[in-house]
Amino acid sequence: MSDQNCLFCKIVSGQIPATIIEKNDRVTAFNDITPQAPIHVLIIPNQHFTTMAQVAENDLKLVGEIIEMADKLAKQLGVQSYRTNINTGADAGQSVFHAHLHLLGGRAFAWPPG
Ligand code: AMP
Ligand code: ZN
Repeated sequence: MSDQNCLFCKIVSGQIPATIIEKNDRVTAFNDITPQAPIHVLIIPNQHFTTMAQVAENDLKLVGEIIEMADKLAKQLGVQSYRTNINTGADAGQSVFHAHLHLLGGRAFAWPPG
């Protein structure tokens, strides 16, 4: 199911262009348009969910598939250390309300986050 007003649904359907890194029938990975690291890939369910928590509620296996794809892509892109990030809600920095996992790599990251 998709939401016709959703930016990431439009990327999944090809209505809006993106640099797709990998896609299967359940998950799509594409480059973030404003990269925060040399590697910054967004990994999303093809189906529309507003948050990753909603993905977990509806299809727990899909959460695993998203994390599995992040790890596979990190290895393919040649990074041993990487950061994955899920922003849930506006105060946490979520700006696109189609669930996504950020995969960031290619530089060192500070902790705690800002
Ligand atoms: P978040 O702030 O966690 O919701 O992350 C949304 C991410 O989507 C941000 O890092 C944006 O840079 C990214 N983004 C917004 N529009 C696009 C687009 N058209 N193609 C690729 N990434 C996008
Ligand atoms: Zn969507």
